[in-house]
Amino acid sequence: MALPREYTNQACSMVRALEIVGERWTLLIVRDAVFGVRRFSDFVEHLGIPRAVLTERLEFLIGEGVLARVPGPGKRSEYELTAKGRGLWPVVRALSAWGDEHYAPGGRRRVFVHAGCDGEVPQSGTCLRCGAEVTLAETVMTPGPGLTPPSPEEGQVSAVLARPRPLLQPVH
Ligand SMILES: [Zn+2]
Repeated sequence: MALPREYTNQACSMVRALEIVGERWTLLIVRDAVFGVRRFSDFVEHLGIPRAVLTERLEFLIGEGVLARVPGPGKRSEYELTAKGRGLWPVVRALSAWGDEHYAPGGRRRVFVHAGCDGEVPQSGTCLRCGAEVTLAETVMTPGPGLTPPSPEEGQVSAVLARPRPLLQPVH
């Protein structure tokens, strides 16, 4: 059923946000971009997303100012989160934490820690060891107990992302 076009003022902001990120692939693209995926072919490999759908989603997210197309090595374009796009990280993080709590019998797939301090950074973004508000660039993603080591068939991106690495650091 389509949402009614008349919204209350209170609902409007959330409805607008859902119009941007409510589609299934969108937050997965944003998550992968935070993890350092930047190339079209790497999104395809890691997400298993149909190429036509990815093309459409990337164009939409560029149009909304969530992603920017930037020149990469050689002649290929890469996709980079804008400040607006990076602002979606707490949403991705919260959904992941909720999924871990209810749908991850093997435990969390990823654990985030404060670079140089090694304190865990929970969903709040405040380091449990030193109390700092940890930025994305200061966050290191490490494999959690629920992360099955990827098989070679899963590709190079999965292998790279299974190793401890700072967020936003390009996969290549
Ligand atoms: Zn810390």
